[in-house]
Amino acid sequence: MTTKDYARYPHQYPDASGHFGSYGGSYIPPELQVEMDKITKAYQTISQTHRFIEELRSIRKHFQGRPTPVFHADRLSEMCGGAQIYLKREDLNHTGAHKLNHCMGEGLLAKFMGKKKLIAETGAGQHGVALATAAAYFGLECEIHMGEVDIVKEAPNVTRMKLLGATVVPVSFGLRTLKEAVDSAFQAYLKDPVNSIYCIGSVVGPHPFPMMVRDFQTIVGIESKEQYFDMTGGLPDVVCACVGGGSNAIGIFSGFINDPVKLVGVEPGGRSLNLGDHAATAAFGKPGIIHGFKCYLLQDQEGEPAPVYSIASGLDYPGVGPEHSLLKDEGRITYEVADDADTLDAFYLLSRVEGIIPALESAHAVAYAMKLAKEMEIGSILVNLSGRGDKDMEFVTEEYGFSMDEAKKKL
Ligand SMILES: *Cc1c(COP(=O)(O)O)cnc(C)c1O
Repeated sequence: MTTKDYARYPHQYPDASGHFGSYGGSYIPPELQVEMDKITKAYQTISQTHRFIEELRSIRKHFQGRPTPVFHADRLSEMCGGAQIYLKREDLNHTGAHKLNHCMGEGLLAKFMGKKKLIAETGAGQHGVALATAAAYFGLECEIHMGEVDIVKEAPNVTRMKLLGATVVPVSFGLRTLKEAVDSAFQAYLKDPVNSIYCIGSVVGPHPFPMMVRDFQTIVGIESKEQYFDMTGGLPDVVCACVGGGSNAIGIFSGFINDPVKLVGVEPGGRSLNLGDHAATAAFGKPGIIHGFKCYLLQDQEGEPAPVYSIASGLDYPGVGPEHSLLKDEGRITYEVADDADTLDAFYLLSRVEGIIPALESAHAVAYAMKLAKEMEIGSILVNLSGRGDKDMEFVTEEYGFSMDEAKKKL
């Protein structure tokens, strides 16, 4: 199944200019390039030191509560009637999702670099909350840029960020959502790059972020492989994870990339497969440039990033990480879609039969695993359960009710 030797993974790429094959790189203004080069250099030296490695290890254990367990979802597996489904419980990571894995790494790097402030944008607020948590832990200032529209929609996360001591900067130009928040945060960063550092929330953006965020997420794959082996004495047949920018997916895949294990990225199929109704970038995009890097991109007629939609706000991004783009071309990762209906079905079912309310993002991966389990009949599937669903409960029950039967009437 492995088409190429990944024995030196994850060190075999990106190359010195931040390319994963023809993807990635850095398409940014010169003044920003200077800062990115400094971050790259600092990361490459600092992250290899004993002090950095030891401190991060201690944080993982004592603050984040790692390792998170791998859980055999045997009631869910029985209901699907085929392969066995296992869940890597990133919902039990502190703050309830995998994002803290890279935010703590970025925060620790900032501390070692002598920075005083972490700056980022946030859409739904998940990255903002994780980064604000890291900032509080390290005693750093935190400035989160957020569109005014999102501030209203995601009020609980705004409250969390403020309680954690972050400054939430409302962005009032353009559509007042994520894209403008990115612009606003970059502007703020460029005003004071000496004292601040920009922290990206997934394996996207200019070099070194796709590499750095990936490296900080490899903990998920390292733990999973060992835990799964302890439980079963072998390897899973399939590992799957939802893909927005692709950080939780690359994290768990990294542990199995050189093993005879099928890796599947699950993208949001949304309402339909018409452009604008989904965010299945790797499945349906074409190479293009967004936010300073090259990747598979959903594009409109003019080649601009297309409007995207997903029931899970963490997945509605028109691009995808450069490493995913390369591994798709190499045939090492396969990309499939789960639509809104199947995702809701998985959300309700996992809650009811296993006592785990998943994030809507993660429910995409569970939905795919349920379908595949039925087809496979035997074997096993390990799913990265990237986060918990508390943030989605109100939305789901108000829009769709408390069961799939109720939801079917509204879909
Ligand atoms: C943000 C988020 C995602 C999507 O981000 P990736 O970088 O693709 O992992 C997935 N799941 C949860 C719970 C999230 O908060």
